[in-house]
Amino acid sequence: MLAGVLELRADCARCAGLCCVGPALTRSADFAIDKPAGQPCPNLRDDHRCGIHAHLRERGFPGCTVYDCFGAGQQTVQVTFGGASSQPRDELLAAFAVLRPLHELLWHLDAARGIAAAAALRPALDEQVSRVTELAAAPAASLAEIDVVGLRGDAHVLLQEASRLARAGTPARDLRGADLIGKKPRGDLTGANLQGAYLIGADLRGRRLDRADLIGADLRAADLRGADLSTALFLTQPQVNAAVGDASTRLPAGLDRPPHWAS
Ligand code: SF4
Repeated sequence: MLAGVLELRADCARCAGLCCVGPALTRSADFAIDKPAGQPCPNLRDDHRCGIHAHLRERGFPGCTVYDCFGAGQQTVQVTFGGASSQPRDELLAAFAVLRPLHELLWHLDAARGIAAAAALRPALDEQVSRVTELAAAPAASLAEIDVVGLRGDAHVLLQEASRLARAGTPARDLRGADLIGKKPRGDLTGANLQGAYLIGADLRGRRLDRADLIGADLRAADLRGADLSTALFLTQPQVNAAVGDASTRLPAGLDRPPHWAS
C-alpha cells in the first residue's frame, strides 16, 4: 500500500544497510552477537547487503527476520540524502531514527483508510497522512525537530475510533495488554481488542481473528497455523514474521507469508 508518494515497504536494494548499523544488538535468542549502536554488523557486506541473509535463523539471528523499516531506509538514502549513501553515517542514522517511526505510523494510518466501516473518518485520516507524509519529506536538518510523540498521539485518536467502528457488532472482547503468553485463549476472538496483548507463544491454531485489533500485539512464536487473520486490524509484517504459521494461515491483503513458515 502507498500513503501519498511515500513507499511503505522496505526496499533493501535502495538502502545502505541502515538497520544493520543503527540499532544495538544484544546477544540473546534473537541475535548471536553483541553490537553497539552505530557500528556495522560484521555480517554486513560492502554492498550494504547481509552476507547471511538466506540463513539468518540457522545462524542465530532470528531477530533480523522480524525487523521492518516500512520503507524508511530507502526514503532516508534515496530521498532525504538524494541517493548519496556516502553521507556521514551519523547523519543518515539520525534521519533514519526519525523516519522509521513516521513510516510505521503511516502504515497504520493507511490501514485505517482501508476500513470500510470507518469511511466517515476518511477526511481526517487523509489529512493526517498528508501531514505526516509532508514532514517525512523534510530536509535532513529539519527532521530532528519533528514531534514524533505528538504525531503518534494525534494518530492514536483516529486509529482507536477506526478500530471501534470496524469492530462494531462483534463480541469485541477487551483483551488490551492481556497476558496470553503460551496460552490458548478461550472464547470467540471475533472483534477482540488485542491491542498490545502479549501473545508470545500463544496457541491460536485454527482460530478466527476476524476484525480483531492487533495493533502493538506481541506475536513472537504465536502459533497461527490454520488461523484466519484475513480481516484482522492493523497487523504488520514484522508481527507476522515473528509468528509461526503455515500455508493454511490466512493473512490480510498486502502482507506476505514469511519464507520460514511451514508450507
Ligand atoms: S545479521 Fe544480517 S540482517 Fe542482521 S544485522 Fe547483521 S547484516 Fe543485518
